[in-house]
Amino acid sequence: MSVARRQRTLARPVTVTGFGYYSGRDIQVEFWPASEYTGITFVRHDLGPQARIPASAALRVDMPRRTTLELNGARVEMVEHVLAALAGLRVDNCEVWVDAAEMPGCDGSAQAFVEAIDAAGVVEQRSPVPQIVVRQTVRVGGSDRWIEAQPSRSAGLSVTYDLDYSSHKAIGRQTYGIDVTPDSFRRELASCRTFITEDVAQGMLAEGRGQRVTPRDLLIFGAHGPVDNSLRFADECARHKLLDVVGDLALAGCEIIGHVVAYRCGHQLNTELAKRLLEQAEAYDGRFGFMAQRRCA
Ligand SMILES: [Zn+2]
Repeated sequence: MSVARRQRTLARPVTVTGFGYYSGRDIQVEFWPASEYTGITFVRHDLGPQARIPASAALRVDMPRRTTLELNGARVEMVEHVLAALAGLRVDNCEVWVDAAEMPGCDGSAQAFVEAIDAAGVVEQRSPVPQIVVRQTVRVGGSDRWIEAQPSRSAGLSVTYDLDYSSHKAIGRQTYGIDVTPDSFRRELASCRTFITEDVAQGMLAEGRGQRVTPRDLLIFGAHGPVDNSLRFADECARHKLLDVVGDLALAGCEIIGHVVAYRCGHQLNTELAKRLLEQAEAYDGRFGFMAQRRCA
């Protein structure tokens, strides 16, 4: 049985600016240090300081292609890359102050958030981090797309993602797996960008969305590969989907110790797994419920 590491927060506040892909709206994201056991909390200060939205799987509302959280009418959208950066770098407690709903797309990856967190620095707090240790396999989804968490002998989180775009030859089938640590996250995952196919991109433009986005701002796949852009890794798409898994699983509000295997899944199933893991942890250990409650709204 491993001893949990200590909780961590930022050493000082830091800011990232950009615009939302869907809305086209400018946004300023301020990352602030936060107390132990408070977890990650988004604050929509444009709506008032009471508009606080804890990063909890229970608050997910269904929107296509992104993770959106809502509490008492206050909403934050496309939070998955912000959460991935925080989880990847093991920042457990942080207030994320924003002045609009949709997080900045930046270059489609988590790189800008990672650079900001690294510039701020991370400090250890006093108490051990709440952990969910996967004790039996939990699986959600059907035969065509699923994600499961398995017990692991390692002391951390490992993830394998199997991306199957057989119908789109330029993407194809890619599998990528990694032990998620701050070093591996920075090196192998942070810069991997979100991607869409050209026909989906055209559909969005026709609906009046994504007007400020250019093919340089993310990966748009045509028949022969990325349009007006080039890959950072041959399997960048699978790595990005893995990054999304890391971000969505952070909605459990606790560090997850286990091996996660994912096949063709997206934000909805990732979040469902986070919920199920919390339920399993609470069923196994009643004391856990108390700890989790303090973090997971
Ligand atoms: Zn993503």
